[in-house]
Amino acid sequence: MATTLQHITQPDISLYINGEFVQSEAGETFENFNPFTNEKINVVQEGRKEDIDKAVAAAREAFDNGPWRTMKLKERMAYIYKIADLIDEEVENIAYLESLDTGLPIKQTRNMVSRASENFRFYARMVESRLVGDAYQVDDQFINYTINVPAGVAGLITPWNAPFMLETWKVAPALATGNTVVLKPAEFSPLSANLLAQVIDKADLPKGVFNVVHGYGETAGDALVKHPDVQLISFTGETTTGSTIIKNAADTLKETSMELGGKSPIIVFDDANFDRALDACIWGIFSFNGERCTANSRLFLQEGIKDRFIEALKKRVQNVKIGDPLDKTTEVGPLIHTEHYNKVVSYLQIAKDEGAEVITREIPDEFKRGNFVAPTMIINVENSMRVAQEEIFGPVLTVMTFKDEAEAIKLANDIDYGLAGYVWTNDMKRGHRVAHQIEAGMLWVNAQNVRDLRTPFGGSKSSGIGREGGHYGFDFYTEKRIIHVAIGENPIPQFGK
Ligand code: NAD
Repeated sequence: MATTLQHITQPDISLYINGEFVQSEAGETFENFNPFTNEKINVVQEGRKEDIDKAVAAAREAFDNGPWRTMKLKERMAYIYKIADLIDEEVENIAYLESLDTGLPIKQTRNMVSRASENFRFYARMVESRLVGDAYQVDDQFINYTINVPAGVAGLITPWNAPFMLETWKVAPALATGNTVVLKPAEFSPLSANLLAQVIDKADLPKGVFNVVHGYGETAGDALVKHPDVQLISFTGETTTGSTIIKNAADTLKETSMELGGKSPIIVFDDANFDRALDACIWGIFSFNGERCTANSRLFLQEGIKDRFIEALKKRVQNVKIGDPLDKTTEVGPLIHTEHYNKVVSYLQIAKDEGAEVITREIPDEFKRGNFVAPTMIINVENSMRVAQEEIFGPVLTVMTFKDEAEAIKLANDIDYGLAGYVWTNDMKRGHRVAHQIEAGMLWVNAQNVRDLRTPFGGSKSSGIGREGGHYGFDFYTEKRIIHVAIGENPIPQFGK
């Protein structure tokens, strides 16, 4: 009998400011729910503007007067490696908390969390080896060179769909490059962010270097974005939220990095390896409960294989195993929250109203308390329909067809989003050609989404601005400073002589 997520409570959660776990100034709290049962897991201190002010003041003081940015690189990296080691010790616990909080299946959270410590190690190694400057010689007059300096206080705002992974993905480069941090995690998934605060507390970083303020986006998040002492905002979340944040960050002229929504195409040509394309397509839409920014939510099938592929999909969709997120055989768990569940379910009605056909299955009675949406495919879809254009962010695949390469590219690009794309063909010239023409930040040819931490991560069009990952993240978390040094007697104009 598998462990089950019934009736689980957790200790209440505080804010983490200036090296201490503290209550919110107003003494307000919010409740955190288990998506499998919709029962309360715990209560979380609700940070607001005054708490953000405290956290930013602590981070500012730590940046301006603390040892963090001035200490020897080796010493700072020792802290980063220590955080990675402490995360490794907690992998099982973090994976458990993540599944409890988000409904993501434990097998998937284990994989995801084991990559989190690598985020820290990777960025420590990167800072040690790749944070380099350029030198420009100007005849025998000047030698000009660049140095990289940390930007200051980094405001990091994260979503609930892969909380720990995305938090560490931002915290690691921000800290490794010498910034101090205020993290505002998503209100639907506070558990693992709290554990990150505990881990960093245990690593004994100087006070104020890392702070966590839980709370709502419109209050705590908004205050962080508008705070004049915060130099940059790295945001991952919905496109509309990203656009609000850019507007709100404008008054204080902050740099922003935007990792936003997606509605990514997977294009399968007649000559593709059928079984591998099928496996990748199913995994790409149903893993993470379909709550994956890079999900291949729009399937384009070439006409020659469409019937066979759709039949195979129908069988597999019936078999994808829904269940308790803590059961290691579960493939699809409940959606994060009733609010999000209602949004996803509303799209199934929208599909029917638009004249498409929805193929799904009943949720067993034992799971009805949870926010379950069964693996679903929508066929007879036109690319102009809302279900083909809008991000549903659940286990819902829309299926369309195309005649030839030109039509596939046209349909794939006929959308506002541009995060990822997947191309399946055994004609490699065509594979490259199509990938080059898809308007998206990240393309895979004959593969599912397999990440390489060294590569740029981000989207085009409405899916984002800027790139994180690899050394690309450094440009965001550091400022380039150019030092001009005269090595000769360059002529100086002699005004008023
Ligand atoms: P969301 O935009 O609702 O919330 C994200 C975060 O922003 C939360 O912490 C929230 O509290 C905060 N927030 C909300 N309003 C704010 C405001 N006015 N000012 C400051 N902060 C505010 O997104 P979500 O529902 O948590 O996450 C799902 C979305 O994230 C999907 O659209 C998904 O595609 C996207 N996503 C993108 C990537 C990527 O890398 N491109 C990765 C994961 C998720």
